[in-house]
Amino acid sequence: MTDSAPRNQYDCSKCPGYCCSYPRIEVKNRDLARLARHFKLSLEVAERRFTRIYMDDGKPERILRHQKDSVYGSICRFFDTDARRCTIYEARPAVCREYPNGTRCGYYSFIQFERKHQDDPDFIPSA
Ligand code: SF4
Ligand code: SF4
Repeated sequence: MTDSAPRNQYDCSKCPGYCCSYPRIEVKNRDLARLARHFKLSLEVAERRFTRIYMDDGKPERILRHQKDSVYGSICRFFDTDARRCTIYEARPAVCREYPNGTRCGYYSFIQFERKHQDDPDFIPSA
């Protein structure tokens, strides 16, 4: 039997975690429950500690809090800014699991292009 599943054209281990710097990482009720379970906290405490409300055209949206980051200026509070990876991989929200919604990641293609043209395999665009 041949493996016909399309392969991912990106490698998150070679990326400084751009998608985790998005300002709006939505936390739905199931995501909050997963986070609370992971940290053995009540829903109320997890919500207060890990999330904040963003107003989108008058509609409240619950999103992950951020922390300062030397590469992108600001990044998800759960991101390890030294190791450049998620610290709650098993408990991350659905939107993080789905991203980039296909076999390609536009940002990864961009940094690969820049790394090749600048002849620097570790090039990271600064904030
Ligand atoms: S921006 Fe793309 S390559 Fe970088 S961590 Fe996110 S999904 Fe992975
Ligand atoms: S929860 Fe993890 S994968 Fe999602 S934005 Fe934060 S660090 Fe990135």
